[in-house]
Amino acid sequence: MSILAIHNPATGALLTTLPADDAASVTAKAAAARAAQPAWAALPMAERLAVVQRFRAGLVAELDTLATTLTQEMGKPITQSRNELNGLLPRLDFFLEQAEGAVRDEHVFDGGGLHEQIAHVPLGVVANISAWNYPYFVGCNVIVPALLTGNAVLYKPSEYATLSGGHITRLLHAAGVPAALMPCLVGGAAVGAALLEQRIDGLFFTGSHATGVKIATALAPRLVKLQLELGGKDPSYVRADADPKTAAESLADGAMYNTGQSCCSVERIYVHASLYDAFVQHFLATVAGFKIGDPMEAATYIGAITRKPQLQLLQAQVRDALAKGAHLRCGGHALPGPGQGFEPTVLTEVNHTMELMREESFGPVIGIQKVASDDEAVALMNDSRYGLTAGVYTRDEAAARQLLARVNAGSVYWNCCDRVSPRLPWSGWGDSGLGLTLSKAGIQTFTRPKAWHLRSA
Ligand code: NAD
Repeated sequence: MSILAIHNPATGALLTTLPADDAASVTAKAAAARAAQPAWAALPMAERLAVVQRFRAGLVAELDTLATTLTQEMGKPITQSRNELNGLLPRLDFFLEQAEGAVRDEHVFDGGGLHEQIAHVPLGVVANISAWNYPYFVGCNVIVPALLTGNAVLYKPSEYATLSGGHITRLLHAAGVPAALMPCLVGGAAVGAALLEQRIDGLFFTGSHATGVKIATALAPRLVKLQLELGGKDPSYVRADADPKTAAESLADGAMYNTGQSCCSVERIYVHASLYDAFVQHFLATVAGFKIGDPMEAATYIGAITRKPQLQLLQAQVRDALAKGAHLRCGGHALPGPGQGFEPTVLTEVNHTMELMREESFGPVIGIQKVASDDEAVALMNDSRYGLTAGVYTRDEAAARQLLARVNAGSVYWNCCDRVSPRLPWSGWGDSGLGLTLSKAGIQTFTRPKAWHLRSA
């Protein structure tokens, strides 16, 4: 049996070791989940809702401990860990309010002895391969609606958020989810790959585009339902009529929150030439106020870079941009060890020949590009293979609506950024993904429609 070692990325210290799953244990857990699923699906919805309600209470009761574990294993500043857990509660409330209605039978025609109805049947056994950057959000976006709609869930948290994944699993089991119905699979890529070999009815993935393509390729011959929530290079445009200070403060937070390790972090900023200098000054002043330090301290805003290889990627993007003419306005370097950190970094005079403006940074590094017009901004925002989110800052709502209608992204923002709502679908366009979570459609996605044609005579 192999062992998974879990380190604190802010200190380099070994936190613990865990026995990892292997191909045989994954197969055994998948078979047990399949055996457990019909009884779970046969329960009245009210009983499954009560389980999730108890899970919610368990999260609230243990919130401080869960936040501490999250900070220790992925380096998220403790205040932001608490924010993630507190932010999960309204998502759970949304699922609790909406699940029953989302999968209720729809009676769509009655006449002349003919009745037509649509039923929403659970997929069966679904697998969730998850990312580490928001383990409670991305895990529960899948696990909770999948369970509520009667599925078994094979849950593989990221190897960088396994302890938090273990807490989610433990609290769900304590709330009444049968252990066999929702096993937690411990390990990295090899365990994820073993999961793909199982008989599964759906694969719900959150992670990088590169891994998403590998998973899609592996599953294609078996026609398994696939959802991919992948990376982004999310742009925002500050229009000539915007207030540069308000926009700069909002966008600095959008770029650097969670140490820039959010799928919907602001990754590219375009600013109209008429307020470029003012915007950059306010942006730099805001970033200068971000406290870098021990993620366990409440005031810390910039925490650790969770995956060590990302330090090289960030450094390479900065080097490439500087070689092509960018101006380094602050930061630019990894922080001294033993932990993994990177200075908040702002580059100006950037353009689309630079990797920084084309490929996901996933760290506290941002490029700010000057534009001459709305049309140029839209063209640059759409000059990307990704399409997760995009935003516009302006005082003019009609202009914002017109610009955002032209932008290719699953979510668009007026005067805000880095925002997810349980009431709205979360979907990536282009290389940012396939399918969606959240909203009513993000509950129905864990079911398949069954069409009933009933003739009484
Ligand atoms: P990753 O692709 O490295 O890993 C994601 C998961 O896939 C992990 O659990 C990993 O163990 C597993 N995995 C790796 N190789 C595998 C393989 N060959 N077969 C099966 N499973 C495999 O991504 P990450 O570093 O965990 O996450 C960061 C990425 O996730 C970023 O690109 C970010 O933008 C994206 N993300 C997207 C969203 C969204 O909603 N669109 C949300 C969060 C994160």
